[in-house]
Amino acid sequence: MLAAVLTAVVITGLCTVLGLAEETKVELRRDYNVKPVSFSMVRIADNFWTPRLETSRKVTIPYAFKKCEETGRIRNFEKAAGLMEGKHEGIYFNDSDVYKVMEGAAYSLQVNPDTMMRLYLDKVVKIMAGAQWEDGYLFTFYSIPQRQPKKLWTNVQSIHEQYCVGHMYEGAVAHYQVTGDRAFLDIATKNADLICEVFGEGKRTDPPGHQEIEIGLCKLYRVTGDEKYLGQAKFFLDQRGRRGSRGPKGNGRLYGKYSQDHIPVTEQTEAVGHSVRAAYLYTGMADVAALTGNMEYVEAIDTIWKDVVGTKLYITGGIGAAGGNEGFGSPYELPNMTAYCETCASIANILWNHRMFLMHNDAKYIDVLERVLYNAALSGISMKGDRFFYPNPLESTGQHARSPWFGCACCPSNVARFVPSVPGYAYAYKNNDVYVNLFVSGEATIETVNNKVKLTQQTEYPWKGTVNISVEPERSDTFAIHVRIPGWARNEAVPSNLYRFHKPVREKTTLNVNSRRISPSIENGFVSIERKWQKGDTIELNLPMPVRRVIAHQDVKSDRGRVALQRGPIVFCLEWPDNDGKVLNLVIADDAKLKAEYRPELLNGVMVITGNAQVVKRTMDGDIVPAREKQFTAIPYYAWAHRGRGEMMVWPARRPQAARPEPADTLTYRSKTTASFVHVSLDAIKDQILPESSSDSSSLQLDFWPHKGTTEWVQFEWDEKHEISSVKVYWFDDIGRGECSVPKSWKVLYRDAEGNFKPVNNKTSYLTKKDTFNEVSFEPVKTNGVKIEIVLQDRWSAGVQEVVIE
Ligand SMILES: [Zn+2]
Repeated sequence: MLAAVLTAVVITGLCTVLGLAEETKVELRRDYNVKPVSFSMVRIADNFWTPRLETSRKVTIPYAFKKCEETGRIRNFEKAAGLMEGKHEGIYFNDSDVYKVMEGAAYSLQVNPDTMMRLYLDKVVKIMAGAQWEDGYLFTFYSIPQRQPKKLWTNVQSIHEQYCVGHMYEGAVAHYQVTGDRAFLDIATKNADLICEVFGEGKRTDPPGHQEIEIGLCKLYRVTGDEKYLGQAKFFLDQRGRRGSRGPKGNGRLYGKYSQDHIPVTEQTEAVGHSVRAAYLYTGMADVAALTGNMEYVEAIDTIWKDVVGTKLYITGGIGAAGGNEGFGSPYELPNMTAYCETCASIANILWNHRMFLMHNDAKYIDVLERVLYNAALSGISMKGDRFFYPNPLESTGQHARSPWFGCACCPSNVARFVPSVPGYAYAYKNNDVYVNLFVSGEATIETVNNKVKLTQQTEYPWKGTVNISVEPERSDTFAIHVRIPGWARNEAVPSNLYRFHKPVREKTTLNVNSRRISPSIENGFVSIERKWQKGDTIELNLPMPVRRVIAHQDVKSDRGRVALQRGPIVFCLEWPDNDGKVLNLVIADDAKLKAEYRPELLNGVMVITGNAQVVKRTMDGDIVPAREKQFTAIPYYAWAHRGRGEMMVWPARRPQAARPEPADTLTYRSKTTASFVHVSLDAIKDQILPESSSDSSSLQLDFWPHKGTTEWVQFEWDEKHEISSVKVYWFDDIGRGECSVPKSWKVLYRDAEGNFKPVNNKTSYLTKKDTFNEVSFEPVKTNGVKIEIVLQDRWSAGVQEVVIE
C-alpha cells in the first residue's frame, strides 16, 4: 500500500483572478496517492456550514484584520518598512497572525470576490515588500527600529523566525493561487531563498523551535516546482533530534521533547510535547513523505497516529491534555476541566489527518478529522465569529468564556484561515475515482484524470443521516465513487479502543443507486460503487442517527463512571442554561431514555438530547445519594459558552460516585464565604470534593496567584452564632508546574462580641503539611464569623483546596 504513495503526477493549478483565470502547470515527481478537491471547486449550500462561511468572510476575517491593526501587528510591518517610527509592538512572533489572516482572506476571495478585501490585501503585501530586506529577511521583531543583523537567527529555538515565515509561505501561496498576482509569492520565495542559504549541510543545522516552515516550504515547492524548497523542508525535519554542531556557535543543544527534538523524527513513536508543534511536524512529515517517497517518515507518523488515536485523543477530537506544556500528557491522561485542546492543535490535527487520508486512502483518518471538525475545532470560534477559545475544556464550573482576542493570538488567526478552507475536506479523487468524505449540501466539480464529475449533495447533515447525491459525469464512463461510511455508523466510536459505544446500533446503513438497494462491502471505511456512471444517476445513503452513549477506555481515569452522548458526528454537552444552572451533580443512568429533537430557535438551530437524570447529594455522613429526578437537556458541544458563564460537562456521570454531588449542609458549606483575592474558584474550598494531593488541580482550588509574599485571608460568616473549636485546611501546592506553595504561616481569627476579629487560643499548632488536612483545634468560641489569615512565602503564591470548620 505504501508504494502507492509514490505515483508520479502533474498538478494543475487553476488560478482565478477575481473572474480572470490563468493556468499554471507545475510538474512534480510524485505526490499524495489521493488528491484533494480544492475548496474552490466545492460550493456549499446548507444551513450548517453556509452561515459559518458567511460569518467567516463578513465578520471573522475583517475583525481579525482590525485586531491586527489595533494591536500593532500591521504597524510592525509599517515600521519595518520605514513608513512610521516606533518600537516593535506585542509578542515577537506576531507577524505570523497577519500571514494567517491573509491566507484566510485569500481563500475567502476565491469563493466571494470582494474588491475591498482584495485592495486591503494588496496594501498589506506592499507594506511587507517594503519591510523585506534586500537579502530576503523579513521578521519585524528584529527589523525594528533598525537593522539588527547581529541578532538574526540567534535564537531559532524560541524566537520563531521560521515559524512566522512558514505562515508567510502558506499565505503567499494562497494569495498567488487565488489572485494570480506574484507580489506576495515573490516576497515568500525571496525569503525562502535566504533560509536555504543560511540553513543547510555545512551551514546552520539547527531546526526551528516551532514547526510550520516545513509545511510552508512544501507549498512553495508545489507552486514553484523548485526542488530546493522541498529539500529544505526535509533538511529541517532531519535535523530534529540530531546531535552535532547546531546553533549560531555550533554548540547548541537539543531542545527536548517539548519541541519533538529529543530523537530523530524517524525514530519517534509517541506523540510528545507541545501539541501544535507536534501536529505541524507530523503534517510536514506527511507532505515531505508524499513528495519524496520517504517511507521512514510514513512509518513514524503511522505509529505516532496510533498512539494519539489510541491514548491521547479527546472525545471532541481535541489534543493536548496539559496547560503547562500546552501539550500531550501521558497515555490516557485526558482530564476534562483542565483539558488544553488548543484550537490551533485541533486545526493542526485536521491538517495532519487529512494528509494521512491522502496518503493511505483510509476513511479512518476522515473519521478523526470529522470528529475534530464538528466538535473541538468548531468550539474554538463563537457563532457570531468574533469570540475565541484558546483551550477548549470539556468541563467547566463557569471559569471559561470565549475572548475577543489574545495577546498570543495564534488561535483566532488560525480559525480565520481554517474556516474558509473547510469545503476542501469534503471530496477527493484518485485517477478517475471519486471520494465522498464529508456530507454537506452543495455542489462539487471534480476534475479527475480523464473526466469531470459534478456531484450534488442534498442532506441535512449533521442533524440527519440521509444523503442524496446526484452524479453528472461530463462523459459517461466506468469509475468508482467511494462513499465514506463513518465509523459512528459502523459501531466504531473511534479507530482504536480508546472509546466505544455502550450499545451497538441495530438499524443498518442503507445505500441505493438509482433507487435500487445495493450492499457493497465496506473497505477501509468506504463503500465503493464501481459502474458506468452517467448523467442523472443518483446515490441515496441513509446513515441511522440514534443517540449513542460513549464509554471511555477504563484507563482514562477522568471518564470513569461517566458517559458521553453522541449523535451522528456531534458530541453533546450539558450546559447550565438548559438545566436550571447545575449540571455537574447529575447522573444519567444507563437505562434512562434519551430523545433527540431539533430546536430551530436555540443557538442558531441545534439538535438537543433530553432525558431524565438523578440529582445526587452528599449526606452529612459523606455518602453520595440520589436526591431527586430532573429532566436534562444536552446541546452540541460546539455551541456551548454562548449564554454566559456557568457549569458545562461533556462527560456526565452514569454512576453517583463520578458526579459532583450537591454538598452536604455543613457549617462550612452554609457560610457566606469571601476572600481577599480569588483566582480559580472560591466555592471550591467548601465543595467537599477532596483532592488526591495538594498538587491536584482537577478538583479546583482557591489560590492567590499571582500574589506573592502578601498576607491574604478567607472569611466565613453566618447569620447566627455557632460554637466552633477547630479549622482544617488542605493546602494547594503546584510547585514544578505553577507558582503556588504552602504558606509561610497562617492563623485563625474569630469575630468577638464587639465585632472585632481576634486570634483563637489554639491548642495545636498551625501546620503546613502537603497532601493532607492541617487541623488546628482551639478553645471553643461562639461566633458568627471566622477568618483564616494566610501569610504567603516571599517568592511564592499559595492556595487552598478545602476548608472544614467545626
Ligand atoms: Zn493557538
